[in-house]
Amino acid sequence: VSFVDHNSYTLTYCRFGTTGTPGDIGAVIVPHDAPGFSHSKGTVNMADELLFELEFDGCRVPRENILLDGAAFAKLISVYNAERLGSIARMLGSANAAFNEALDYAKTRRQFGREIGEFQGIQWMLAEMKVKLDAAQLMTYRAASNAGDGLPNRLETSLAKVYTAQAAKEICDDAIQIMGANGYTKEYPLAHRYAEVRGGSIYGGTLQIHKNMIARELLGQKRSRDAKPSS
Ligand SMILES: Cc1cc2nc3c(=O)[nH]c(=O)nc-3n(C[C@H](O)[C@H](O)[C@H](O)COP(=O)(O)OP(=O)(O)OC[C@H]3O[C@@H](n4cnc5c(N)ncnc54)[C@H](O)[C@@H]3O)c2cc1C
Repeated sequence: VSFVDHNSYTLTYCRFGTTGTPGDIGAVIVPHDAPGFSHSKGTVNMADELLFELEFDGCRVPRENILLDGAAFAKLISVYNAERLGSIARMLGSANAAFNEALDYAKTRRQFGREIGEFQGIQWMLAEMKVKLDAAQLMTYRAASNAGDGLPNRLETSLAKVYTAQAAKEICDDAIQIMGANGYTKEYPLAHRYAEVRGGSIYGGTLQIHKNMIARELLGQKRSRDAKPSS
């Protein structure tokens, strides 16, 4: 879990029932000074941010800290789509910045007596990056604008997430390639941008989980076939 050292509370999803289905799941606000709550010192991730493990050992909180007590999973997850869309927009911003940096570099870096932007190999990379960037932007904006005053649609959010996460990785990777050894150093921001967008394929639901959700929606299935009730 990220940003634990900046927060005094953690919103924790937990089971209220024993049916072993998502219907058991509700949410509790756990203050970080609650008895039985602790967290690790944090591990540095690729993007130089800290990730923490949380431990709940007989943790007790007042009854009023119960936000939703079971049968609330659908509600919790639908709100989560708004948070997901925010992280998709963040990936889009990083990919956009990487594209612009590579574009500027291609216009100024000279090799073999000409700007590298005159080589077709570089031109096609830039063209493909722009196609992916615009497609990701349109999918993200569609999910956001269709939300109107409400919450983003589950399918549109997952579609935007899968495409943008993949496109952002490829755009950052191509930007590094265009900038050669400079792109690979930490003097330039691309290594950090790549590390940052890489996490987006994992947090907020991994790409595999989002593909499961897209397929479930397309096939009209309520639950994943491989989801087994916990014992
Ligand atoms: C930068 C970052 C920030 C994070 N911040 C938070 C946070 O603030 N709060 C929070 O609660 N969590 C946070 N997380 C945790 C994140 O939500 C989990 O890492 C994520 O849900 C994946 O869980 P896992 O790491 O245990 O991987 P696992 O669930 O162990 O998955 C391992 C691999 O198996 C695949 N897999 C698992 N199940 C299936 C399936 N049914 N079908 C197909 N493939 C499957 C996964 O896609 C993945 O490739 C953060 C993670 C990162 C990287």
